[in-house]
Amino acid sequence: MIPLEVTFAMYDFIKDRGLLDKTEFYYTYPIGRVHSLENVAKWAAPEFDAKGIKYETLFNMKEVDGKNAKVLSEEGGEVAYDLLVAVPPHKGQEVIEKNGLGENGWIPTNRHSLHMEGEHGKNVIVLGDTTNLPISKAGSTAHFEAETAAENVAAVVKMGRPVKSYDGKVFCFIEAGKDRATYAMFNYQNPPQPKAPTGAVHAFKMAYNKLYWATARGLL
Ligand SMILES: Cc1cc2nc3c(=O)[nH]c(=O)nc-3n(C[C@H](O)[C@H](O)[C@H](O)COP(=O)(O)OP(=O)(O)OC[C@H]3O[C@@H](n4cnc5c(N)ncnc54)[C@H](O)[C@@H]3O)c2cc1C
Repeated sequence: MIPLEVTFAMYDFIKDRGLLDKTEFYYTYPIGRVHSLENVAKWAAPEFDAKGIKYETLFNMKEVDGKNAKVLSEEGGEVAYDLLVAVPPHKGQEVIEKNGLGENGWIPTNRHSLHMEGEHGKNVIVLGDTTNLPISKAGSTAHFEAETAAENVAAVVKMGRPVKSYDGKVFCFIEAGKDRATYAMFNYQNPPQPKAPTGAVHAFKMAYNKLYWATARGLL
């Protein structure tokens, strides 16, 4: 779940309990829009506006002053809270950084072949959250990268050369509350174009969650 989804889910949770008039939502984000993908931000900001969810961008959390129940930002901002839902800093695995395999715990990865960059990378393929590729760290990213990796391993064994290039494909459902969702599908060349959320997309996500491992193993 991304912070946008948590905010929409909490909004519906409070709404269902008839507490909206007693609740103020305040969403902060470190860059100059409400999500890193520009089109997702363009879709989400009006959704926030329609619900009366306030937001502040360019807010990089510096410190939580628990005693006075407020959050301070690197930019000099300050937000008071009753309930704080905070996301820890995004970083990779310590074991990777400690062993000199990649800065901040992510392994430098060729964006198309998925080989580890550098002299030791020839026979190393990197997938999922551990790459340093500038795309979403998501289950679908690992899934689509795995398709490229598996085909290439088989091709190298059988023919001595890889046959597939990863195009940066990612597909993410985005929940817009408890019963509506949209999705973002994109690759290196084509940005996502999220549509208005619907109940059907939410229902599809619920079904997909149950069916995923059956489809991934080729049972469906
Ligand atoms: C709260 C949350 C919500 C998310 N929601 C979504 C979502 O809705 N949709 C979506 O697409 N993605 C979502 N993601 C992201 C998704 O879970 C990850 O992108 C995906 O699991 C990455 O797969 P992976 O195989 O690269 O890594 P992981 O799934 O993290 O697998 C890594 C494995 O390596 C093991 N491991 C680690 N260190 C060692 C070691 N030293 N030795 C041996 N084993 C080790 C770990 O135990 C783990 O099992 C979410 C993530 C979080 C945290």
